[in-house]
Amino acid sequence: AKASGKNNYKYFNEELNELLKFRIQQERELCSAIKNKEFELFLQPLVNSTDESIYGFETLLRWHHPSRGMVSPDQFIPLAEESGLIVEIGHWVMFEACRIARDWIDAGHDTFKFSVNVSSIQFERQDVYQLIKDALEKYAVPAETLVIELTETAIMTKHSEKSGVLQSVRKLGVKVALDDFGSGYSSLSYLRNLPVDYLKIDRQFIVESRDKSEVRSIINAIAIMAHALDLTVVAEGVEKPGEARFLNSIGCDLIQGYYYSKPVPETEALQFVRQWRQFCRA
Ligand code: C2E
Ligand code: CA
Ligand code: CA
Ligand code: CA
Repeated sequence: AKASGKNNYKYFNEELNELLKFRIQQERELCSAIKNKEFELFLQPLVNSTDESIYGFETLLRWHHPSRGMVSPDQFIPLAEESGLIVEIGHWVMFEACRIARDWIDAGHDTFKFSVNVSSIQFERQDVYQLIKDALEKYAVPAETLVIELTETAIMTKHSEKSGVLQSVRKLGVKVALDDFGSGYSSLSYLRNLPVDYLKIDRQFIVESRDKSEVRSIINAIAIMAHALDLTVVAEGVEKPGEARFLNSIGCDLIQGYYYSKPVPETEALQFVRQWRQFCRA
């Protein structure tokens, strides 16, 4: 028994070693990804539910890995956070989002909002206020063009300190969205005290609304409450016409999801805008 225990230990050790090697390798690759220009921001439209005009775009990070192909953020953001690389990546994302906003304004698209995801760890380790200010200034982008998206966890931990930062960000004219609402400890009562402008209903609610009428009732209640607090309501993960119709019927303001478009590269998003205009005129 003792011998096999030892073997198990050895086996476990080897596995741990492999895991560790993979991690270190991945961290090294992540570290060079910025200077190798392997990151790209994809864009996904947010559409006004009443007239189906385009309201803006969420920027979503993609990593074009030299051998593994496109890696989704869920697979590398956690490592980026643990290793602290999120600060550098977050810096790149903010400047790249403002670069896009500037190019689009120059191309005559000066009404769209662009939203940027800021992770909880990034919000703790980085002077996000200064970052936003610098990025807006570098590209002479009006603050009203920018929205930052934060989850409840990001806002709730060290709440008072962060509220102060968010207040100054909003004073610039930048809007704040509460992302993934309903996925954590969301309580309707604290929402009153949060310095946010948009409430994004978590995708899981939309998924479950398909066959559960009680989930549709919850979504309706969230929308009523959010509107009472003067928040703009966004539904994400909308895939089917029925979902869009339901969300429109309860007064949800903005709709985002595969139903309109997946996140796509910048040039495809521009194409989407042009086609959308033609479609609306027809
Ligand atoms: P999120 O902020 O909640 O972004 C929405 C996610 O839902 C995106 O996944 C988007 O592609 C996906 N999605 C949108 N519509 C639909 C739909 O109709 N059906 C389905 N099945 N999915 C839909 P993505 O792009 O893989 O991003 C995952 C998460 O990674 C994001 O969740 C966000 O938390 C994080 N992330 C993405 N970009 C950045 C970034 O630039 N910085 C940071 N810190 N985090 C980011
Ligand atoms: Ca988001
Ligand atoms: Ca979300
Ligand atoms: Ca999410």
